[in-house]
Amino acid sequence: MTTAPKTQTNEGGDVRLAGISKTYGSFTAVHPLDLTVPRGTFFALLGASGCGKTTTLRMIAGLEDPTTGTVALGDQDVTDLPPYKRPVNTVFQSYALFPHLDVTENIAFGLRRRGIKSVRKQVGDMLDLVQLGDFAHRKPHQLSGGQQQRVAVARALINHPQVLLLDEPLGALDLKLRRQMQLELKRIQTEVGITFVHVTHDQEEAMTMADTVAVMNGGRVEQLGAPAELYENPRTTFVANFLGTSNLIEAEVVEAASEITVLASGAKLRLPAGRCPTATAGGGRLLVGVRPEKISLVHTDDAAEIPEGRNRITGRIADSSFIGVSTQYLIDSPVCPALEVYVQNVERDTRLVPGADVILHWNPEHSFGLDADQAVDAGKMGDTAVGEVA
Ligand code: ATP
Repeated sequence: MTTAPKTQTNEGGDVRLAGISKTYGSFTAVHPLDLTVPRGTFFALLGASGCGKTTTLRMIAGLEDPTTGTVALGDQDVTDLPPYKRPVNTVFQSYALFPHLDVTENIAFGLRRRGIKSVRKQVGDMLDLVQLGDFAHRKPHQLSGGQQQRVAVARALINHPQVLLLDEPLGALDLKLRRQMQLELKRIQTEVGITFVHVTHDQEEAMTMADTVAVMNGGRVEQLGAPAELYENPRTTFVANFLGTSNLIEAEVVEAASEITVLASGAKLRLPAGRCPTATAGGGRLLVGVRPEKISLVHTDDAAEIPEGRNRITGRIADSSFIGVSTQYLIDSPVCPALEVYVQNVERDTRLVPGADVILHWNPEHSFGLDADQAVDAGKMGDTAVGEVA
C-alpha cells in the first residue's frame, strides 16, 4: 500500500459549505445550507429523489455553480475553481470506464494524464486495495457491475483526492451486490482515511456506511447526526418515518416533569422529558413515537404477565407477515389506527394471528416525543425500512 496513513491524508480533507444554495429560475433546489464534513469521515447525503442531494454534491465538485454561498475544501476556498482544479474526484453511478482499456490502464488513467510514466507500483496498490489483482488485464465488459464499480473507485483514489464524492455509486447493482459493496466501500474508506461524501436515497445504505448522515428534504438538511442517533432520536416526523418505521401516536400532555405523561385516546403513556421537544413539554399536544421493534406483543389472556411500569395499549391484530427473523404485525388500536410491531421469531405464540385481541407494551424510555404540528405521514416512502431484514 502506498496510500498514506490517515493522519497524513486527513490534512485539510474536510468540506465546509457556508450558506450554499441553488436556484433554477424560481425553483429552489437547495436552500442556503451550512455543512461541515469532518476530516476522514464517511458522510452521507440521504434523501428521496429531488431533495437536492445531487445538486449539493455537484456544487462541491464544481460541476454546478452555487447561487449563493461558498465551498471550502480544507483551508482552501474553491468556490471559483473549475472542477479539474479542485482536490476532489467523483464516482458516478455509471462507472464511465474506458471500454477499450483494461483494468490496469483504467486505473492508471489519472497518473498517465499527469505524465507519470511509472505507474506499476501505484496501480498494484490500488488493485490490492479494491481486491482486483486477478482481474488486472480484463476489459470492463468482462467484469461484473460490482467489479466495475471497484475499478471506478480505484481510478478515482489513485489521484489521492482530498475528498472522494460518490453519487449513487451502487445504484445500478442488485440488492445483494449492493450490500456487499457497501461493506467494501466502508472498508476502503477506513483503509485510505480520505473523506468520502456519498449521495444515496437508500437509508439502509447510508446507515450501514456513514459515520454521519445528513437527511435532506425539500432542499434542506432536516437532521444531521450519527446513524444510531438519527434513528433513536429523530427530531421530525420526516426523519422518524424516512429512517425506518415509527409508530407516531397523537396524545395530550397531562403532566410534565422529568418524565412526561400523556393521554392518547384514554391510554396513559409516559416518556422521558429529555426525548421531547421543549415547546410541548409544558403541555399541549405531542406525537409519541416508538419503533416497531421496541414493542412487545401479548395476547390479552396473558395481560397479568406484563411487568409494572410499561407503557401499554390494547388493539387487535389486523395483519401479520412472517419474514424469517421476525414477524411483522399490523395492529388496529383505538389509540392509533395502524401500529406496527416487529417480534423476533424466537418462541412464536400461535395465538397471535389476525383477529386476536392483544396488548402492546414497551419500556417508556424507548418512546420519543415530536412536535404535533407536523404531518404525521411525512417521509413515508415505499423504501425498505431499517429493521425489515428478510
Ligand atoms: P435524485 O436522487 O433523483 O437524483 P436529488 O435529490 O439528487 O434526486 P437533485 O438532482 O439535486 O435531486 O435535484 C433537486 C431538484 O432540482 C429537483 O427537483 C430537480 O428537478 C431540480 N433540478 C436539478 N437540476 C436542474 C436544472 N438544471 N434545471 C432545473 N431544475 C433542476
